[in-house]
Amino acid sequence: MPYDYDDQNIFAKILRGEIPNTTVLETEHSLAFEDIAPEAPVHTLVIPKGPYVTYDHFAAEASDAEIVDFNRAIAEVCRIKGVVPGDGQGGFRMISNAGENGVQEVPHLHVHILGGQNMGRMVPRPT
Ligand code: 5GP
Repeated sequence: MPYDYDDQNIFAKILRGEIPNTTVLETEHSLAFEDIAPEAPVHTLVIPKGPYVTYDHFAAEASDAEIVDFNRAIAEVCRIKGVVPGDGQGGFRMISNAGENGVQEVPHLHVHILGGQNMGRMVPRPT
């Protein structure tokens, strides 16, 4: 079973209200909140409310309404956090880690929105 969702993961607990979060945006199908250990001046996480492990899982099994909601929530968070490129705003990087090689820590789909500084190289050069 490639998409075996663990409902005890930390983001599932946040969605159930068992763990507090600093909410940036809540929509019908998505939640955005501040990362607990920010790696840039702007570091916000956007998650779907449904039980999806990775982006490929979400894209394969989520409803059209969930997919539209999630993508629009990401864009809205960028506006809220002031990182949309243009109009003097600085731009952002969005990252979604998946699985072991993606070094995914929390097995509930999330997109990191990072900005507020130049984010440098996307990945380290191979050694
Ligand atoms: P991943 O490595 O899975 O892509 O990223 C997981 C992210 O979740 C990390 O950036 C980590 O700081 C964040 N995180 C882990 N536990 C919590 C938590 O309890 N609350 C919040 N807000 N973020 C968390």
